[in-house]
Amino acid sequence: MKILVVNAGSSSLKYQLIDMDGEKELAKGLVERIGIEGSKLKHSAGDKKTEIAQEIPDHEAAAQLMLKILQDPEFGVIKSTDEIGAVGHRVLHGGSAFTASVIVNDAAKQAIRDCFPLGPLHNPANLMGIEACEKVMKGTPQVAVFDTAFHQTMPPKAYMYGVPKMYEEKLHVRRYGFHGTSHRYVSRRVCEFLGISPIGKKIIICHLGNGSSLSAVMDGKCQDTSMGLTPLEGLLMGTRCGSCDPAVVQFIANNPLNDDGTPVGHSISVDEVLTMMNKKSGLLGISGKSSDCRDIDDLASKGDPNAKLAQDMLIYGIKKYIGSYAAAMGGVDIIVFTAGIGENNADLRAQVIDGLEFMGAKIDTEKNKTRKEAVISADDSKVTVCVIPTNEEIMIARDTLDLVTTGKVRDN
Ligand code: AMP
Repeated sequence: MKILVVNAGSSSLKYQLIDMDGEKELAKGLVERIGIEGSKLKHSAGDKKTEIAQEIPDHEAAAQLMLKILQDPEFGVIKSTDEIGAVGHRVLHGGSAFTASVIVNDAAKQAIRDCFPLGPLHNPANLMGIEACEKVMKGTPQVAVFDTAFHQTMPPKAYMYGVPKMYEEKLHVRRYGFHGTSHRYVSRRVCEFLGISPIGKKIIICHLGNGSSLSAVMDGKCQDTSMGLTPLEGLLMGTRCGSCDPAVVQFIANNPLNDDGTPVGHSISVDEVLTMMNKKSGLLGISGKSSDCRDIDDLASKGDPNAKLAQDMLIYGIKKYIGSYAAAMGGVDIIVFTAGIGENNADLRAQVIDGLEFMGAKIDTEKNKTRKEAVISADDSKVTVCVIPTNEEIMIARDTLDLVTTGKVRDN
């Protein structure tokens, strides 16, 4: 069966068509600037690549264009949309309602809508993607795969915040965690790769990209994760500040600064502070130059003190989470690095593991040069340290296939 994987943003629609017979990617693409001037589609199928610039007023038009190019005589890979067995959609927030992926029906759509306040930027866009595909592929099953679902096994002591309990009971204020599809894929794949069962194993997954999160996984189930009610909590990220004293929000709201460091002269709203914490902070805010880890490394190696500080803060933060998750689980057997930084940045991996010999983790400098699936720990390291490239699309496609063929996901 061919499965179409869709990730819809507020002005974008990313897609990948996968032949599940062999799990082969047939084509992928991105529709950008939906509803904005300059909209276009970028598409590739194997070595063939094309770009179409045209007006794309809404998600339905984007979905139509995606189907058109997938059936194109030159750049397409299917003759008819009937070849698409089902569509799997990435959905950011499933709240507490979803512990696993689901076939989309009216109740599921309402539950996604109910989560709009929890994922105000992403969930409405994700639902637009679902509804657009429903319209242009009538009768094709649609599946929703939630970024939060894998983390739903966390115990209350890990997901509760210490604010009055009624906020969780009445308003669902709690830790949810994100990147769940990646954490789930990587936690399964590392065990497959090592030829071991997840049962009895304590794994720490470091998903380090533009957005970063760690998770503690025991017996294949998530015990804790670093992101919270929103993806702002946890590590220092590309443009997000990560965890800080909540009183910082009030202090900055009352004493805001312009980009040049001069006082604004009046207070700003909590929303404005959070926008700054989401978009102007992290590696970008500390370095003052870039949110991209490659630029930060480059600047730091040339002696830029703020880039070096940003790098140090990121590494220190990862170490602290690894230490706390090892303590929470009573040990750690496997540490995995994944996503853009985790897969590619050998120096950062080495610096994170450096000094963790006391808990049995030691890196092998030669093995650590990899960008592929590999064990990178020394032969005498008690903790196995690995690189496992993430693959959220395949996880979404597998859940979609499972739900439409057997009615349940094979391994949640
Ligand atoms: P992601 O959000 O997973 O796409 O990851 C984006 C981050 O990964 C950025 O900070 C990049 O600097 C980093 N990254 C991506 N590719 C590389 C690479 N080849 N070497 C080092 N860092 C990389």
